Amino acid sequence: MQTFDVAIIGGGIAGLSHAYFLSPHRSVVVLERETALGYHSTGRSAAEFVLRYNTPEVCQLAAIAKDFFDSPPDGFSDIPLLKQRGGVMIATTEKAARLEEVFRTERAFTPELEMLDEQGLLTRLPVLKPGYAAAAFYDPNFWDIEVESLLQGYVKGARRNGTEIRERHAVLSASHDGQAWTIETSSGAVRAKTVVNAAGGWADPMAEIFSVEPLGIIPHRRTAITVDLPEGIDISDMPEINEIDEDFYMKPDAGRLFASPADATPCEPGDVQPEELDVAWAAHYVEEATTIPVRRVAKSWAGMRSFSADKLPVIGFAPDQPDFFWLAGQGGYGILTSPALGALAASLLTGQSRPEGFAAQALDPHRFSPLRFKV
Ligand SMILES: Cc1cc2nc3c(=O)[nH]c(=O)nc-3n(C[C@H](O)[C@H](O)[C@H](O)COP(=O)(O)OP(=O)(O)OC[C@H]3O[C@@H](n4cnc5c(N)ncnc54)[C@H](O)[C@@H]3O)c2cc1C
Repeated sequence: MQTFDVAIIGGGIAGLSHAYFLSPHRSVVVLERETALGYHSTGRSAAEFVLRYNTPEVCQLAAIAKDFFDSPPDGFSDIPLLKQRGGVMIATTEKAARLEEVFRTERAFTPELEMLDEQGLLTRLPVLKPGYAAAAFYDPNFWDIEVESLLQGYVKGARRNGTEIRERHAVLSASHDGQAWTIETSSGAVRAKTVVNAAGGWADPMAEIFSVEPLGIIPHRRTAITVDLPEGIDISDMPEINEIDEDFYMKPDAGRLFASPADATPCEPGDVQPEELDVAWAAHYVEEATTIPVRRVAKSWAGMRSFSADKLPVIGFAPDQPDFFWLAGQGGYGILTSPALGALAASLLTGQSRPEGFAAQALDPHRFSPLRFKV
């Protein structure tokens, strides 16, 4: 049986971006339980790229990733990976003062932010209910991510470098003979010297399979719906709408309106499904904030956003097992940070190169080490 240098467990954006950056340096196999890559969190996201409104570290990762999105290597994707969307932050009367404060803080770094009066707001967001928002500002720095093209770019690049991507390979158990892991899967055994845990919501149970101490990475369910637009309404160029406290967000989505109540309910890892109440909340916000009647929810879904205790990703070798590498806890920003985190993981795993962009952002590549959870 071939012994791979690295087995990456998880065929989502984390595992596949890492395979892309690691495969020039190591022989790699990706093991994915499902038939389709990106079936879980990766295929259920809001596909949003934003430079701000996250923790400072995530904003730094976004800035590093932006270069890749703007100028991916030749042949990576046939279409641009980002599409300009823009975003409008809105607040009702009781929250207006705080929105203005956020505007002042953010504007210190981003002069292009623009406070909107009622007329400017309704020009930007023609479907917003007049009078719903008492304060609003426009931020041009929101983009839609072409998630499928990004994922396929990683897959094609990794395969070109010899990576084997094996769907329908659920990892069931593992043992180490002092030289390498033998990983038992639903489709046979695989041998690898190092294992990368990119199992998303299953990162902790995956660690246990390898007798590695779990780190407390907890999946949180998030729900989204799309609703049909009334005849003759075209919102394709409308910016994203963000409620100042993240009570909800909405954006155009393939001829419909996408809405999420921004729920974050801790859940068991699995093929999570939307709860009726969360779907109802999403529909409620559409009816409350916009002029779009919700006659029918066209589609509803839910996915996992998995967080560590400090809400930052976990990237590095396990303190208790030198042949086990964590790449988990990407929370609600795993797609947008994937070029930065996939490359960081490759650089830390091989020790061969400095991750690009981290010095420019003054971001310590070891900031996300699992060692920070060691007591
Ligand atoms: C509603 C919603 C909106 C979001 N919006 C955004 C956004 O706008 N921008 C953004 O950047 N991020 C967003 N996210 C977050 C983003 O989707 C995640 O951070 C990202 O997809 C995590 O990727 P992953 O590869 O870690 O996880 P996944 O895509 O879940 O991949 C993990 C894989 O591991 C596999 N696996 C697990 N156990 C096993 C096993 N035993 N054997 C083999 N394989 C196994 C699973 O089958 C799965 O395919 C959103 C998430 C949700 C749910």
